[in-house]
Amino acid sequence: MFSAMSGETRYIAGNIPDPKSRKYTCPTCEEEVSHVSETRRSLNIIVSEHFRHKAGDAKHPHKRFTWQVGNMMSYLIGNFSGNTGLDQFFDVETERRYSASMEGKNLDFVVDMLATEKGLNQRKTAIIVESDEFNANELLSQMHLLSSQGIYTMLVLSAKGTANPSGKYFRPEFRRHTGETVRKIPGNEKAVYELFGERNIYFDHDTQSLMAVKFNDYSEEHDERQLSTGHVLEAGTQEFGTKKRPETLGRFKAFGFEYKRTSPGGLLIARPAPIVDYYLDLEKRAEAKHDDDLSETVGERIGIMLDSMSQGERARLTGKYGAEKLGGYAVAGQSS
Ligand SMILES: [Zn+2]
Repeated sequence: MFSAMSGETRYIAGNIPDPKSRKYTCPTCEEEVSHVSETRRSLNIIVSEHFRHKAGDAKHPHKRFTWQVGNMMSYLIGNFSGNTGLDQFFDVETERRYSASMEGKNLDFVVDMLATEKGLNQRKTAIIVESDEFNANELLSQMHLLSSQGIYTMLVLSAKGTANPSGKYFRPEFRRHTGETVRKIPGNEKAVYELFGERNIYFDHDTQSLMAVKFNDYSEEHDERQLSTGHVLEAGTQEFGTKKRPETLGRFKAFGFEYKRTSPGGLLIARPAPIVDYYLDLEKRAEAKHDDDLSETVGERIGIMLDSMSQGERARLTGKYGAEKLGGYAVAGQSS
């Protein structure tokens, strides 16, 4: 777990000052927990400091600690810190527990992180990270409950890679159409792909970034050829129904949210988006609600970001949001 109480104060992993100087208790069961310091698996892979129940496993819902989870949490905590400036716009909690009964089922689970917008909208996003097996049906029930409370869900799967050779999920590859990249998506990964509107979000431990991945149907072109039966197979395209070719739609060193409602089902989901895109959306919402303070704060941040942005990135934003929105930073000929 990534947060604990000491007296009346809640400490969230990331940069706890002088962590060994006090005793901690579990916010859920109030049992004593011990602090485990941050470790490094390699130059860029940090496993976040965390807390462990002294009496063995917790007796309430909790996630099994793995280094992959510790690394993903370190990334997520860093994403909403002063390093990105997002701490101005979000409050985050870790291991937020939800317990309710829905459609005759008792649900009791924790989400790894709850990111709540400060100010007017206070949109909430439950971030769930998985490095192990999980149950997609349980996840669906949890998403229904979260959606019914107006909470968006973002699922992050730990990707297989050089640092994580035994990973269960997706291996980012730069080579194309090799046996390794063209693949069948296994059950769970496919189930959540459909749940989340045909887009999976992976954490690549090697580059310490999030990836948004779409899986396209795979097909092969072939020339006319004579089959051993004597028949001639005309030139054409052969479809492989179950095989998919992954397409990386975006990589994020740091991210803001893009909020969606899936159809059918109407579940609330969140996806990573470039921070500037998140700010432009937030500014729009702040203006619609006449929250002048927020729209001014976020407007300043947008200005700072646009200042240091490449021409190509400004052209993309001009095309997406229009020249008026970009003001003096608009790139001519790109406006939609
Ligand atoms: Zn506990």
